[in-house]
Amino acid sequence: MNVNDFFNIDSSLLELDKKALEKCQKIFNNIDNVTEYNQLKVLKAFIDNGVSESYFTASTGYGYDDRGREILERVMADCMGAEDSIMRHNFVSGTHTLTVALFGVLRPGDKVLVLTGRPYDTITGVFGIDQKTDGSLSDFGVEYHQVDLKADGTPDLEEIKSRLEKDDFKMAYIQRSRGYSTRPTLTIDDIKVLCDIVKNVSKNTVIMVDNCYGEFVEKEEPTQVGADLIAGSLIKNPGGGIAPTGGYIAGRKDLVEKCACRLTCAGVGKEVGATLGHSRELYLGLFSAPHVVGEALKTAVYASALFGSMGYKVSPETNEKRGDIIQCVTLNTAENLVSFCQGMQSGAPVDSFVVPEPWDMPGYTDPVIMAAGAFTLGASIELSADGPLRPPYAAWMQGGLNFHSAHAGVLLAAQKMLKNDKEN
Ligand SMILES: *Cc1c(COP(=O)(O)O)cnc(C)c1O
Repeated sequence: MNVNDFFNIDSSLLELDKKALEKCQKIFNNIDNVTEYNQLKVLKAFIDNGVSESYFTASTGYGYDDRGREILERVMADCMGAEDSIMRHNFVSGTHTLTVALFGVLRPGDKVLVLTGRPYDTITGVFGIDQKTDGSLSDFGVEYHQVDLKADGTPDLEEIKSRLEKDDFKMAYIQRSRGYSTRPTLTIDDIKVLCDIVKNVSKNTVIMVDNCYGEFVEKEEPTQVGADLIAGSLIKNPGGGIAPTGGYIAGRKDLVEKCACRLTCAGVGKEVGATLGHSRELYLGLFSAPHVVGEALKTAVYASALFGSMGYKVSPETNEKRGDIIQCVTLNTAENLVSFCQGMQSGAPVDSFVVPEPWDMPGYTDPVIMAAGAFTLGASIELSADGPLRPPYAAWMQGGLNFHSAHAGVLLAAQKMLKNDKEN
């Protein structure tokens, strides 16, 4: 075992590691198959669009006629099987990107129907679900409607159909990833079922998918099974760990244009936006993304196998089909959760010497602990974990730029938990 040439892992844990890796072998092969497919898809998009070294130069000011920016957006559209895209460093986060897409399409008096229960925390403020937050969609007169998930965490297809039949919705909104909840992530097949229902009942309703954490996990993207518009963050999957910030929106050309008019200005749309020298990183990140997503998926699958073998509840299960890169491990005690995050941090390439402690984060009712030793602040395509200090003390982990180092990070998390057990 190479790992003990550099780290001091208990022999009992190394036994579990070996068994976990054996259990993962077949799944890793399947992941490699999807990675290869997506890598070739991305390569072909680069070739078809004639990506050239000269596209990496920096534009300034208005950024008129920035060929690198224009072609990057063509390449991204092809990768997503979409008509058009906007992919820019100007998006400050995933939430901002989704906000631009929502405000781009929706107008005062429009109604949105969310098909997948209460959305990701930061999006609730954008819709203005609980209160008419300043600048939220509800502040601008967009009506929010939601179909709750069923008890098993899956979409309520009957209820969705009947709500669509009764009312006129401008947009149906789907969140692909579980985010930090315990419901299952939607697969592309699940998304197709939802899109078919919407289009059958109400063909003019715009279907938008929050695609965060889902890009390149399967061979197809939501835009290839009926979604009109998708959006995501470049410090997650499609930035490949290289994009320093940014986001993308892809989908129907007319809708992407509306979003561009919201990002920049009406009448100007996609024609402006200086790239300031970031184009190379965005191209390189997109090119690396299928492989990096594969490594992150292997890390998630391995962690589920290892912690499953230690008796902890894991979700998804090792063999379960995945629609995103997130792994949840239920650790049962506060001590375990703290040790898990501290151990993982100790195996990070950056800030390994930092010892994370739980803290009271604004907007959360319980203290939260996080492990994040990343090259890009907040990048969750890099190995990272967090969880609130409340029962059942679950850690949500994701990312891993390469499996060999993320494997060590996960082992160190387990080792720290075992060590803690022995000391008590
Ligand atoms: C990460 C994420 C977002 C956006 O979050 P940011 O932190 O603003 O990038 C939105 N929806 C889901 C499901 C996510 O996982």
